[in-house]
Amino acid sequence: MIDVILHGGRERSLERRHPWVMSGAIASVRGEPAAGELVRVVSAGGVVLGSGDWSPASMIRVRLLAAGKEPLEADWLQRRVEAAIARRAASALLRGTDALRLVNSEGDELPGLVVDRYADTLVVKFSSVGMQRRREEIAPLLEGATGAACGYERADATAARREGFPPRQGLLWGSPPAGRIPIAEGERRYEVDVVNGQKTGFFLDQRDARELVQRLARGRRVLDLFSYTGGFSAAAARGGAASITAVDSSPAALELAALHVAANAAAGAPPARFEALRADAFEYARNAAAGFDLAIVDPPPLARSKADQQRASRAYKDVLLAVLRRAAPGALVLAFSCSHHVGAELFRKIAFAAALDAARSVRVLGQLTAPADHPVSLYHPEGEYLTGLLLEA
Ligand code: SAH
Repeated sequence: MIDVILHGGRERSLERRHPWVMSGAIASVRGEPAAGELVRVVSAGGVVLGSGDWSPASMIRVRLLAAGKEPLEADWLQRRVEAAIARRAASALLRGTDALRLVNSEGDELPGLVVDRYADTLVVKFSSVGMQRRREEIAPLLEGATGAACGYERADATAARREGFPPRQGLLWGSPPAGRIPIAEGERRYEVDVVNGQKTGFFLDQRDARELVQRLARGRRVLDLFSYTGGFSAAAARGGAASITAVDSSPAALELAALHVAANAAAGAPPARFEALRADAFEYARNAAAGFDLAIVDPPPLARSKADQQRASRAYKDVLLAVLRRAAPGALVLAFSCSHHVGAELFRKIAFAAALDAARSVRVLGQLTAPADHPVSLYHPEGEYLTGLLLEA
């Protein structure tokens, strides 16, 4: 294995088990490792710190797979994939759904690999040059461990560009998904387009929040901003909402949202009114008529890097301010940030600033994060990206 030598002092984060070596930490490389090759990371003082995937195009130059001198066992990949799947199968927190994340990158000690299960189909995403080289090895492991009928790879164009590998999308095993895949999540039913949908097709990370919305919706007028395919709208319909307005910029997503609301409407109490609006949700919020008593605000990641933090904070604040200004007395607002760079602490400050400007007294009723199928390694806080606040205005 080729040695990668760090600058003095830069061993500290690895000693605290952080799994990344950034480009600036590296003093020299004893050879020319290929992209994705396994390298050994050594401190300036000559201590072996671990081994991991070399990624010459990326700011994250090495993703550690093993700490210290211990070499990777021959079957490490199989063991970690199987362990990730077994943990979910055994988890009391993950019952009642056939759609869940089976592998969550660093959170499962498999950096660069995400696997989502939708009933009998697995959707696989590679986001590091090292992991995508193991495609042919990983596919049969996943098939063997789950028995899933189909494995489909979704391209991650952003990661591919950052990491310098060609994005690839297509079948890994089985026969291609024929149309949308029906899934069951608690009492809710959805259909997922794993080929053309956003991310891997559905926002699995909002499962607990959907459950919450279902519990809170009865009799309420619901505004679902950034609705995508109406995960929240359908939960509100199931929970007995009085009316629902879904707003998104994607017509395809809104079409499916209408279908999801109809399919999940509570027996005997379908919403009196459902509206799917193609609009800019920031603008819609600024001009919306008052008169809703449950709003969900779930924008796309607005801060992809630290440099975006201020601009993103302003955008979050503007939309929250607009929503708080128009919310009916006693309304609930469920607001999310899905950017690591706008985390729980900053997001609460943003909500504070919005409440102050809206001149409303606002209480925090709850805080949310991604469910247990999206584990975060304690050593890798960057893996935490979703934060939600349930506010009462
Ligand atoms: N709440 C959804 C996920 C939202 S993802 C769920 O739980 O399934 C973010 C959504 O915002 C995407 O559907 C995207 O199409 C939409 N979007 C992005 N920018 C937007 C904008 N300016 N106005 C309205 N929708 C937007």
